Amino acid sequence: MSSFKDFSFVGKKALIRVDFNVPLNDAFEITDDNRMRATIPTITKILKDGGSVILMSHLGRPKDGPTEKYSLKHIVAHLFKLLGVEVQFANDCIGAEAIDKAAALQAGQVLLLENLRFYKEEEKGDIAFAEKLSKLGDVYVNDAFGTAHRAHASTAIIAQFFAPANRTFGLVMEGEVLSAEKVMHAAQKPFVAIIGGAKVSDKILIIENLLARATDIIIGGGMAYTFFKAQGGKIGKSIHEDDRMPLALEILAKAKVKGVNIHLPVDNVVADDFSNTANTQTCASGEIPDGWEGLDVGEKSREQFAKVILASKTILWNGPMGVFEMENFQAGTKAIALAVAEATQNGAFSLVGGGDSVSAVNQFGFNDKVSYVSTGGGAMLEYFEGKTLPGIAAIKG
Ligand code: AMP
Repeated sequence: MSSFKDFSFVGKKALIRVDFNVPLNDAFEITDDNRMRATIPTITKILKDGGSVILMSHLGRPKDGPTEKYSLKHIVAHLFKLLGVEVQFANDCIGAEAIDKAAALQAGQVLLLENLRFYKEEEKGDIAFAEKLSKLGDVYVNDAFGTAHRAHASTAIIAQFFAPANRTFGLVMEGEVLSAEKVMHAAQKPFVAIIGGAKVSDKILIIENLLARATDIIIGGGMAYTFFKAQGGKIGKSIHEDDRMPLALEILAKAKVKGVNIHLPVDNVVADDFSNTANTQTCASGEIPDGWEGLDVGEKSREQFAKVILASKTILWNGPMGVFEMENFQAGTKAIALAVAEATQNGAFSLVGGGDSVSAVNQFGFNDKVSYVSTGGGAMLEYFEGKTLPGIAAIKG
């Protein structure tokens, strides 16, 4: 597959699936435009090549067809500001207006189609709907990694209507795929996976898949308490899942057989209430008194985890080490961010993926100190669970 940069769009109408699913306030102002900003280089490259651009996206979750609240017309003015190029708008993503406006597009011009999810056919992956969309462009570009795990009409099904030479990833998608593949299929060892977050149940598949690939797995956050309870430890009122305890023991046993080092916290910052103003103390793992709950990893754990991270050449991080949203319980997650940044500076490849660890690195200002920050929460998670993502498979063919 040739890279996006080598693709020439001269004289072509590029139909780009973008992720413009941005949050809007009640006055229809965009409150976070990161997803729009991310895809600007893809659009600009096509326009500079001498092509024209037709953008398609979903916005929100409209239930019953066209809804004012979910109209993509609200983002036209901001897109114009980001691109510096006038943006035409079609009030429907298929039908006469879209066909006419797409046909009339000249090199350097941009057309945005109305919300794809005004049609139920989009999420159903309807072939006839995908074919109608495909007629609007000569080349299909997928730059929406956030929806790559969905087999929707515009994210996957549509690709079959373009020859392999006429379909490609955009820059966002290409960056995501290359960095994910680097970790999953070409990781330099030692490879440490840092898995945190609230629940074991959300991360089981990813841990199981990583058991076949990682050298070390650090398990922190709320999910660690299911492991401690399963081992007979005292966890007070810490978050845990009783029904997942057998699985936690199974993971530990499997890791032993496979020679993967599992690192659980040795100490914890515990609180007498789920609140930033709660009383706190540090307790050894498995020795948390009744009425107290673990809300962060302790200092000894931070030091041990940092040592493992600094000795690694490949780092994957998904999920915080504690309730980092509260200032008094963010030291563990911050320590991980610091260690990952230092390891990266020393030459390791680091990928941070999954909603909350991404918010954490952004919040702590470490986003440009790691090798790659993934924008696709669910998609990245499914990729590391070992699933084939329809959006990637459809382009690769
Ligand atoms: P996830 O989306 O599964 O990565 O989980 C992220 C959430 O887990 C964040 O909102 C954290 O506040 C929460 N979390 C992390 N550690 C704990 C803990 N020890 N107790 C309760 N919630 C936690």
